[in-house]
Amino acid sequence: MAILRHCPICSSSEGKILFTRDFSAIKDVAPFEKYDVIVCEKCGFVYARPYGEYNLLDYYETESKYDNQEYGKYNEVYRKIFNMFNCLCEEGNIFTDKKKFDLSILDIGCSMGMLLYIFKENGYKNLTGLEPSSQCRELANKIYGIDIITGAAKDTLPRKYDLIISTTVLEHLLSLREEVHNFKEKLNKDGVCFLVVPNAEFFCTRDNLFQDFSTEHINYFNIESLDKLMEITGMERIVMHDEGEFIYALYKKNDNVNSHGYNKNVKLEICLQKYIQNSTKVLAHINGILEKYKNKKLLVWGTGTHTATLLGLSVLKNMKISGFVDSNRHYWGKKINGIKIISPDELLEDEKLSSESILISSELAQTDIKKYIIDDLKLKNEIITLY
Ligand SMILES: [Zn+2]
Repeated sequence: MAILRHCPICSSSEGKILFTRDFSAIKDVAPFEKYDVIVCEKCGFVYARPYGEYNLLDYYETESKYDNQEYGKYNEVYRKIFNMFNCLCEEGNIFTDKKKFDLSILDIGCSMGMLLYIFKENGYKNLTGLEPSSQCRELANKIYGIDIITGAAKDTLPRKYDLIISTTVLEHLLSLREEVHNFKEKLNKDGVCFLVVPNAEFFCTRDNLFQDFSTEHINYFNIESLDKLMEITGMERIVMHDEGEFIYALYKKNDNVNSHGYNKNVKLEICLQKYIQNSTKVLAHINGILEKYKNKKLLVWGTGTHTATLLGLSVLKNMKISGFVDSNRHYWGKKINGIKIISPDELLEDEKLSSESILISSELAQTDIKKYIIDDLKLKNEIITLY
């Protein structure tokens, strides 16, 4: 049964279900077993309404994949975010003089502190991160020399900050309004918030088997909905950039910001309906490929949302699976539908698995995984790709 998560922006309980996302096959490793994607009848915001009760903070403390040193290779992503921050400051004529290097900066949900590290490289001195995973704190300190407080936005901190950064965090939060209110409470009087969130209007340009309705993303923004969220918290937008995959925006405190009520934001629903149609076509294509392997035993490589989708919606749910493989150590030993998740090393060691076909259950990592299986593990198994 779905818990009654009201619209995290306007608090209305009236909503229409656009899609139901079922992760029950991977419930041991996902924060939610199942959620409905809801469009709010009052303000048009689109959000996930999970089934059952969840403690998300526990999940991010213990299951975090953001403490993986591999994330270091996403440096380019963080450089782009830093460049975008500079562009916004220039455009909004804010933090343009040399004093900017003394700004006290807090990055909420900073993972290993890669973005703060780029600020540090560029001359900023007063940098702190806030992150629920203690593993991340240790790595941030060891690799990047960045100080991180283990905790969440709701925690009281000993001081306030001139700039609060939060990049790709808001889409994860259940109590969105309360959390953003906590962000504001941590800002100095003239403080500024720099936010980056995925742009849900961009989803309709993709056809990726519902992957944008991910295990962790439960709020789907466009600029109008982000503005509304900030407005009801007492913050107004200074400047933004929303072309492409992400929305980048600066907000400042303004307790007198005029709330104009809730005009229904219709664009989000239109974009997400289109996205659902695109993904449905991909599913049909994948079923066509899998049908050919109906009577064979398979190993499935990848235990994330892509696999959950296949097990929930595709013909894979009725096929013979002898094992799941994943390189994320958090997953080893856990089970999917009663079948164990093993490490790539275990796959090498078990002779009887050598004759089975390996289905690569990933779109984004398909090429890398295939290369790893052939070049590094030197396995001779037949490899099935879906893209
Ligand atoms: Zn609403």
